[in-house]
Amino acid sequence: MRNVVIIGSGCAGNTAAIYAARANLNPLVIAGHHAGGQLSLTTLVENFPGFPDGINGPDLIANMNQQARNFGAEYAHGNVLDADFSARPFRLNVEGEWIEARTVIVASGASARWLDLPSEQRLIGRGVSSCATCDGFFYRDKNIMVVGGGDSAMEEANFLTRFGREVTLVHRREEFRASKIMLDRARHNPKIKFLLNTVVEEIHDVAQSVVTGVRLRNVKTGEVRDQPVDGFFVAIGHVPNTKVFRGQIETDAEGYIASHGGARTNIPGVFHAGDVQDRAYRQAITASGAGCMAAMEAERYLEAEGH
Ligand code: NAP
Repeated sequence: MRNVVIIGSGCAGNTAAIYAARANLNPLVIAGHHAGGQLSLTTLVENFPGFPDGINGPDLIANMNQQARNFGAEYAHGNVLDADFSARPFRLNVEGEWIEARTVIVASGASARWLDLPSEQRLIGRGVSSCATCDGFFYRDKNIMVVGGGDSAMEEANFLTRFGREVTLVHRREEFRASKIMLDRARHNPKIKFLLNTVVEEIHDVAQSVVTGVRLRNVKTGEVRDQPVDGFFVAIGHVPNTKVFRGQIETDAEGYIASHGGARTNIPGVFHAGDVQDRAYRQAITASGAGCMAAMEAERYLEAEGH
């Protein structure tokens, strides 16, 4: 029986592990298939306080992981395949083995939705990104392309005009999901060019391991052409990693965990931390803060129960 099981090993999960371990709760962290979370997909992180020269995302995660281990946190590889929160102790199926926990911190994050082109997957971190805040800085005076037609795409395109020479926004149809205000802002930005009814078929150039351009297809005319770009940002939404908890934890329509104040879910003893609940900020530092909150709440909850 574990006092605290933390699901996820990104910023939120690792920070929860540091706090819970330091409170002598011997937490077990289920690392997940994408151990390290979204930071493990980025390069230099320049806005995490405490690192004036920046720090590489994977190094930041490795440091947090080491810090948690120093206080006694344990890490298990693999994923949670099933969960039973209907009775205490809570039960989690980790790669086929059931474990029991007095409290659970769900920090399973949200994954960027990708176009799922093989070339896109190969070039992530080499010109392909899903996070303008993280990587926009690298494209000063470069040609940038953003894919998507929602608020995220508008926000990313606007943000990227701070850096890029030109930002081309590619959307697969003429109507937008984006709110009027965000769309108008993008439309009035002289650096943003709209390319509608267009899909990206391929990203060049896997052979050189760097983004040099894209192949585009106009879905109305069928015209196919290449366009050179240096940075390629995919902003077609995020998917919270809550599939396994559906029907157990209250979520909103899109699957983000509903907060019941602080780090509390609708189930006493099950807490949320990071992007699995947060659709607004999605930053390393906010996820870390949320991990801290969840661990403190778990600690208080256990203390109140006499553990
Ligand atoms: P979203 O509203 O779901 O929009 C996703 C966009 O990506 C849609 O235009 C969609 O096209 C496109 N798309 C999806 N799959 C695609 C694919 N395979 N290929 C090409 N295009 C694809 O997602 P979001 O923009 O991330 O926004 C999510 C939520 O967060 C929204 O509620 C939004 O308002 C909110 N948000 C708010 C702000 C803000 O207010 N500052 C900022 C960001 C996000 P179709 O339209 O053709 O389906």
